[in-house]
Amino acid sequence: MSILKSLCIRREAWTAMLRHCIEQKPQEACGFLFGSNEREMDYFVPVANVHNEPERHFLMDPEEMIRALFAGRHGNQKPAGIVHSHPRTPPVPSAEDIRSSWRGAAWHWIVSLEDPQIPLVKAYQYVQQGDGTWHYTSYPFEILESDCK
Ligand SMILES: [Zn+2]
Repeated sequence: MSILKSLCIRREAWTAMLRHCIEQKPQEACGFLFGSNEREMDYFVPVANVHNEPERHFLMDPEEMIRALFAGRHGNQKPAGIVHSHPRTPPVPSAEDIRSSWRGAAWHWIVSLEDPQIPLVKAYQYVQQGDGTWHYTSYPFEILESDCK
């Protein structure tokens, strides 16, 4: 019997992702989650946000982004998720998020710091419908202490 693996994130990646988003507040933070496959988020790599309105948008620094994507790989790991934060709003994709050229990425993680005491994190897929419009669906995930299995 085959069991569909659920989405998971290692505790170390989770902690690094939240720490980076909290440190960048009030600006939006961004980065990548890498994994050995698309359902396993094993580590987080931050990328500087160089948007000229960084409190409301993010734009990854191109050099850092390329370094993260090509030089920052550990072993055969691949970028599995795009991360950005919403410093003041809930973890819900904005119209801009869904329009962005990242929309085809496997997973979109949004870290909301609307309540600074309790970060809320959601993982989404953006899916193009038959009529060409894009919609999002959130997926549950597990935080694991060791490698995702
Ligand atoms: Zn957003």
